Amino acid sequence: MIIVLKPEATKKEIKHVEDKIRELGLKPMLSVGKERTIIGVIGEEDKARLQPFEAYPGVESVVQIQKPYKFVSREFKKENSVIKIAPGVEVGGNKIIIMAGPCTVENRERLFNIAKGVKKSGAKVLRGGAFKPRTSPYAFQGLRDKGMKFLFEAKEEAGLPIVTEIMDPRDLPLFLKYADVIQIGARNMQNFELLKEVGKTKKPILLKRGMANTIKDFLLSAEYIQSEGNNNIMLCERGIRTFEDATRFTLDISAVPVIKKLSHLPVVIDPSHCSGIWDYVAPLSKAAIAVGADALLIEVHDEPEKALCDGPQALKLNKFDTLMKEMRLIAGAVGRSI
Ligand code: PEP
Ligand code: MN
Repeated sequence: MIIVLKPEATKKEIKHVEDKIRELGLKPMLSVGKERTIIGVIGEEDKARLQPFEAYPGVESVVQIQKPYKFVSREFKKENSVIKIAPGVEVGGNKIIIMAGPCTVENRERLFNIAKGVKKSGAKVLRGGAFKPRTSPYAFQGLRDKGMKFLFEAKEEAGLPIVTEIMDPRDLPLFLKYADVIQIGARNMQNFELLKEVGKTKKPILLKRGMANTIKDFLLSAEYIQSEGNNNIMLCERGIRTFEDATRFTLDISAVPVIKKLSHLPVVIDPSHCSGIWDYVAPLSKAAIAVGADALLIEVHDEPEKALCDGPQALKLNKFDTLMKEMRLIAGAVGRSI
């Protein structure tokens, strides 16, 4: 349920509604939008339905949201959400943000080299995993704490905010200290306890879609984060499992317009993990810009043949530079910029 307030509602009137919601054992969530200010009601809504909130001073109307997810839905918020990552770096506005970097942090020198390279080409965020979710327990698991420090140093060196993946809520203090954006990977999209923990923070979250999850599941996972109070969420389509085996996963390109219709949250495309092959990364990135993605997450490496993880899908720095130029043209054609 959402309670829509009158434009002229006073602070006292708003507080009165919030207090009543709390008295019912529910949680109010105030959202001040450009078009309207609303209060979302979190908890068992049946309790709230019996209250004549429509009659409260300052209240314009009460709307029952039909979708299973509420706070992430367009019904809750009409205008697009814009997520602030760093000064001048926002996802969800007119500018398309390119996030790029290696799959995993390998050592300081390589990370610095890649960070400076992608920055020079126009990337606005550096990606890199320090904690890696590997299918095999014998595969390289990431540099962990040391990798987080290298990322932080690369951020200072290149002047790029960083996005990196968390797997365990016990590492949250480390992520709050070093990361600008916390990534929840495809394999953890339904790790509900992890979602709740990051939901209690205000850090921007890049939530990746699970490879076997529907868009409805995806939005419900985002709802776990937002219902805890964190509305800084970006939704990343990274390919789903289908019968097709020519690519690692199948990029669900229609997820972009579908999610944009259902939700106010910005949508990110990862053209690297869905294809698994560097040669397909450029065409898929261009398609992502054309279809309306707000940001891209691209794997780039200075020597992909030596990469410890996901080398076959990494773009070389010069190829990434060419792609940036091509993407700028397409962004311009759809009325956006990079
Ligand atoms: C990643 O981005 O490093 C990653 C592991 O991706 P995904 O969770 O989409 O597989
Ligand atoms: Mn990877």
